[in-house]
Amino acid sequence: MESGFEPRILICTECNQEFVFTVAAQEYFAERGYSEDPKRCKTCHTHFKKDQRKSTFKRGTAQDKSGYPDQP
Ligand SMILES: [Zn+2]
Repeated sequence: MESGFEPRILICTECNQEFVFTVAAQEYFAERGYSEDPKRCKTCHTHFKKDQRKSTFKRGTAQDKSGYPDQP
């Protein structure tokens, strides 16, 4: 199960905390052809998504470029 990815430490642009760009997240990004790293930690990303959903964001339509895999 070697994917060639390794977990990486990134800095969140919202809270300036370090967070792990996990192998699973990197695979998710690669699958969708995203070349940029995520800018937010999972906590801030979740808040960001909620904000989007509250306003004009509609599920399943817009392309979610900052997405993390939805985890249970
Ligand atoms: Zn953050």
